[in-house]
Amino acid sequence: MDWFEIIAINEHLFVIRERLDKIEPKFRTKYTNMYLLIGEKQAALIDTGAGVYPIRPLVEKLIKKLPLLVFNTHHHFDHIGGNSEFEEIHIHKLDYPPIAKPVDVGFLKDSPFAEVYEKHNYRLPMASTAIPLQGGEIFDLGGITLTVFHAPGHTPGSIVLYTSEGEVFTGDTVHFGAFYYPSKFYPEDYTEMLQELYDEVEHFMEKGRLFPAHEDYNLPLDVIQELIFELDVFSMNKAEGQFDEFLNSYVFQKTNFTLIIPSENFE
Ligand SMILES: [Zn+2]
Ligand SMILES: [Zn+2]
Repeated sequence: MDWFEIIAINEHLFVIRERLDKIEPKFRTKYTNMYLLIGEKQAALIDTGAGVYPIRPLVEKLIKKLPLLVFNTHHHFDHIGGNSEFEEIHIHKLDYPPIAKPVDVGFLKDSPFAEVYEKHNYRLPMASTAIPLQGGEIFDLGGITLTVFHAPGHTPGSIVLYTSEGEVFTGDTVHFGAFYYPSKFYPEDYTEMLQELYDEVEHFMEKGRLFPAHEDYNLPLDVIQELIFELDVFSMNKAEGQFDEFLNSYVFQKTNFTLIIPSENFE
């Protein structure tokens, strides 16, 4: 089965990618990246994908008999679609309510994979247990630790996770490509949060690398600063954007980022 692409970054980190554009090109996003960390005592899976094919078998092949912790960077369907394959997942407490019951994916009716979702009546089944996070937790995987940073913005309960080795998993909080802002977007709040994130991981210096949930991965920490800059110079002028009906948003093409800002921010 070659739906997932698996790339080894180093001896303890794998990227597992799937093509979001093949599920629904209207999201303007080519790749979703999930990550698998393998410690000496346990493993951690960061995000479970869109749920079109099972991810658990390939994860089990890679981790062998190690116990597995599963994390969702936030509640959006492309990050939680495989949750029901696992008994237990971790998600920030503020992003738990949207996944407390099966998640509505009615917007995928035109997808080539619609029949996969139709089987569940366009409701993604969920894991039976969700463990709430609040930020600040440190998980010991054996030889590597994984720290949770609360990064409200893209969603209220978005999290960034980072290892003791300087690998920073930014979810949808920082990534190149189509970048989705929350409804009622407050640029100052977002850049303040990004600056706090930068301060938190800056001590890793060159060793620090970003592993976002979409598009390019293994990026320098300075990409956080690049995004802060883009937001600082961004003028909320919808005349400069292009309206996208499917996303009900205005789209602003920048160099590395395409800013997608919901219409209601302009009301
Ligand atoms: Zn998202
Ligand atoms: Zn996403």
